[in-house]
Amino acid sequence: MPLVAGVELGGTKCVCILGTGPDDVRVIERVPTTSPAETLTAIEAVLDGWRGFVALGIPSFGPVGIDRTAPDWGHITATTKPGWSGTDIAPRLAARYDVPVGFDTDVVGAALAEARWGAAQGLADLAYVTIGTGVGVGLIADGKPLSGLTHAELGHIRPRRLAGDVFPGMCSFHGDCVEGLASGPAIAARAGKPGDQLAADDLAWVSVADAIAQLCHILVLTGVPRRIVFGGGVAVGTPHLLPRVRAALVDSLGSYGNLALLGDLDAFIVPAALGDRAGPLGAILLGQAAL
Ligand code: ZN
Repeated sequence: MPLVAGVELGGTKCVCILGTGPDDVRVIERVPTTSPAETLTAIEAVLDGWRGFVALGIPSFGPVGIDRTAPDWGHITATTKPGWSGTDIAPRLAARYDVPVGFDTDVVGAALAEARWGAAQGLADLAYVTIGTGVGVGLIADGKPLSGLTHAELGHIRPRRLAGDVFPGMCSFHGDCVEGLASGPAIAARAGKPGDQLAADDLAWVSVADAIAQLCHILVLTGVPRRIVFGGGVAVGTPHLLPRVRAALVDSLGSYGNLALLGDLDAFIVPAALGDRAGPLGAILLGQAAL
């Protein structure tokens, strides 16, 4: 496999990686995410010291411009992260290193890595859902990121609310979208303490699982994913969450035909396998795909 440099752009840190795959990671360096100018300069200082890479892959927090024909390709677009809206990422690094650049969302990068080396090995069609600081969905169809006008933003769909649930939600755009109901900050706001301190039988989990199940309901109805892989701190750190989501998904879909197609739900809705490595390994795959 060709040697690739990758940069996973995260909300609190960026991970720079040089390698060809999980068995051949030559260097990993982390850079704190501060201002765009400071962060990109620090990333360039790392990459400037590397030799021999023939492509660059960049999975980034979003939203981002992924249409290669559009002027905002490779930029962070209207993010809520202060100072980062409109930041040029990929064009800047492409010009500096003069190599092909693959650029996509962080969840698409993680989805590619889980499909190649993780919890969805061998599957060409999958969804990767992160439940953490935010809620994001990366969709892969026929082995490639599924996109058109732009990338999916399915963390912001509006679920039908459970009867009697009056929590207004936390999303600054929509209130009670899935991110506004099920992200780590939303759980903490609803329950008064973080999810990792909440009892497994706390009623908050019923609402959280229901919102996530409705996201799964929609993913199933797209007809695309053969598996849904869950990553992110909330999903990974809450062992009772996915069993609840599977049960709520069955209730939500009812006897509709697609449910039979899904087979064993324990194998359809699964936890991620690569942990923190999914992002950097996804960066390598995005770079290799750009060649
Ligand atoms: Zn929202």
